Amino acid sequence: MKEKCQIANCDQDLNFMDKKRIYQYDENLEDETAIYVCDECYKKNKAEENNIDWEHSS
Ligand SMILES: [Zn+2]
Repeated sequence: MKEKCQIANCDQDLNFMDKKRIYQYDENLEDETAIYVCDECYKKNKAEENNIDWEHSS
């Protein structure tokens, strides 16, 4: 059985060779929780975190 990315609105399979995990705020738990994501969502998440660095790297 293939595992899916746990980001809402994303239906991609996880990279089973190298599962990526990010921390996301969960409103129900009122705490951060680790979720498994596909490569694309992981990259997007990291790009947002590093946004300032990226803008200066051109
Ligand atoms: Zn995804």
